[in-house]
Amino acid sequence: MFAVEKIRADFPLLTQKINDQPLVYLDSAATSQKPQSVIAATELFYTQQNANVHRGRHSLSEQATTAYEKARDKVAQYFNVQSREIVWTKGATEALNLIACGLTEQLDKNSSIVITPLEHHANIVPWQQLALKTGAKLHILPLEADATFNMSACIEFLKQIKPTVLALTHASNALGNITNLSPLLSTVKGFNTITVVDGAQGAMHLQPDLNILDCDFYVFSAHKMLGPTGVGGLYGKYERLNALLPYQTGGEMIETVSLFNSTFRDAPAKFEAGTPNIAGVIGFSAALDYLSELDKNAAYDYEQGLFNYAVNKLNEIDGITIYSNLEHNIGTICFNYKDEHPFDIATLLDGFGVAVRSGHHCTQPLMVHLGINGSVRASFCFYNTHQDIDIFINALHECIALLD
Ligand code: PMP
Repeated sequence: MFAVEKIRADFPLLTQKINDQPLVYLDSAATSQKPQSVIAATELFYTQQNANVHRGRHSLSEQATTAYEKARDKVAQYFNVQSREIVWTKGATEALNLIACGLTEQLDKNSSIVITPLEHHANIVPWQQLALKTGAKLHILPLEADATFNMSACIEFLKQIKPTVLALTHASNALGNITNLSPLLSTVKGFNTITVVDGAQGAMHLQPDLNILDCDFYVFSAHKMLGPTGVGGLYGKYERLNALLPYQTGGEMIETVSLFNSTFRDAPAKFEAGTPNIAGVIGFSAALDYLSELDKNAAYDYEQGLFNYAVNKLNEIDGITIYSNLEHNIGTICFNYKDEHPFDIATLLDGFGVAVRSGHHCTQPLMVHLGINGSVRASFCFYNTHQDIDIFINALHECIALLD
């Protein structure tokens, strides 16, 4: 038995009332809630430990630096990689921009970049910009009409293109679908392709062993992993990482500066110009501690149970269309009711205290691919309960009665 009530007691926000109803939070794909230990670590930093990192010789600064670097070690441990392969950014978006901008000198008009129609805008727009800057050609991996992968067709496509860069998501934020990465990554292995995985959704639910996954880059956002907003980062295989151009320049990332010239440090320092989000990193460190104490397999099975329970309940309602893949999913359901506007459903559900997402979910090309303008999205985390789903489904029935 997964002790969900014990878990919920760690998340103070879950006891909130919204519109006089107990909150049912089904928007963890947008951002996860934070355990008390993360809130406490952030507060402790500002009340007792605040100092800038990497600069001072005084005790507070040294303590802050140690805590900051220890957090890097924890992320590295979480993904089973080396600490020097982890770069802090403000999140997955900045991490993807850092990689795409950093590759500017490695691509030219003979290069090719492959993405999929599933991607979040953060894993599309930086590649479009890189293609514009370098003359590289952007290709789209052909997916089935329901946005699942026909693996043999995709493999054939990759063999033909031999991409310079392959960027794809570990799990879709809109659908929750999990990408079967291994066959795709191993297909391009012989082409010296730079492989980039968007782990914003996968990093917490799927905790990949990056040593085994063997991609070149993997990006993540702390706020989707129980940590604070405004912090995240990337893993980069060291040679590939160090070969990137610096994304930003300034203090901390330099070796020497004269008035007309500068030299840069090696990764990860090379990519961390300026004062970082120290409190965010320290809060994230507490989130990683929380995750390391959690029985991840039990949490995953529990989330899958919630997902299946909700899918079955939704399928009992006439007029509901579910777009998510039901076999391989991190626990996110993308659906519509008849041709009702998803905003209307989400607004009505909010009146019952149920928080779901609606719209295009920063995946406009995916919505076009699916032939819809948008959807409602309910996303689950291990702190949700079956009762949350019962409340959600009952509220949905009430909304439908109002709309029909
Ligand atoms: N990729 C995916 C799959 C996401 O879900 C998100 C966040 N919704 C991002 C990238 C961007 O993450 P952030 O906004 O934290 O930078």
